[in-house]
Amino acid sequence: MEFVELSTGCYYFKGAVNIGYIVSEDKNKGMLIDAGLESSAAKKVIKQLRSEELPLTHLFITHAHADHFGGAFYIQQNYDVHTIAPALEEAIMSNPILEPIYLSQGNSPLREMRNKFLEAPAIRIDEICSEGYLEAFPEVQIIHLPGHSYNQHGILFRGILYAADAFLGKDVLQKHKIPFIVDASENIATLHKLKMMHVEGMVPGHGNDVTEYKDVIQNNILIHEKITLDVQNVVNQSGNSGISFENIVASMLTKYEVEPANLGSYSLFRTAISAHVIQLLANESAVYKITGGKLVIFSALYKA
Ligand SMILES: [Zn+2]
Repeated sequence: MEFVELSTGCYYFKGAVNIGYIVSEDKNKGMLIDAGLESSAAKKVIKQLRSEELPLTHLFITHAHADHFGGAFYIQQNYDVHTIAPALEEAIMSNPILEPIYLSQGNSPLREMRNKFLEAPAIRIDEICSEGYLEAFPEVQIIHLPGHSYNQHGILFRGILYAADAFLGKDVLQKHKIPFIVDASENIATLHKLKMMHVEGMVPGHGNDVTEYKDVIQNNILIHEKITLDVQNVVNQSGNSGISFENIVASMLTKYEVEPANLGSYSLFRTAISAHVIQLLANESAVYKITGGKLVIFSALYKA
């Protein structure tokens, strides 16, 4: 993992999942922002910090996805770190089986759902945070960035925003095809909030750091709006017979040429597509009816 210095006191470890690092001016306090997928990533990070004689006193986890806090257990075992996480996300980090549970729509998950990508080791959270300044680490501002996860928060420090998965880097965006979100409206609102911010640079959870962030954020907005529109079209084209929720998922996966390799991957796409369907229902562009034992979605145009 490359250790990149962005500005005075602001760094990140560049990898498949980026890990941020900030250090106070007196070098007494150092905070990691997320911990990577597993202990091997955390080990590399610790080795680098040790070789540069940089402190590690705090750990902030932006949201409760296993690829962002899977390495945190190892860090807590080896360092006395004050661990901070947003409300609700923290509940999943303390009880990580909740991720495979919610991806299984509340059921006890199949054994194959309980893998390192969906379930990280449980960690201890010392402080639950919400938007605002962090008392434990002056100058650190916590920014609410919901949509990709229920209560995701990023960190703003000396002009650099560590944005977690609120947006994806340019190359990563294409690869994901249908990016994971849990709330389409909040996700778009968060992207607009980021676009309006005046900062020196942003670091996404996946992809390169950017100074010209408005363009990449606009690309993210366009991709999500296109997905919403495509879901709306699938529903509209079903006419007055409507379309089952399961067939909306199938149509979208086919349209975007996504072939999930396993149940875990399928459940992530299903959740993302559901977010767009729920948005249509919430803004009354679509309605649902439970008929013939199926959840069927109708365009508001054909509302009986
Ligand atoms: Zn995530």
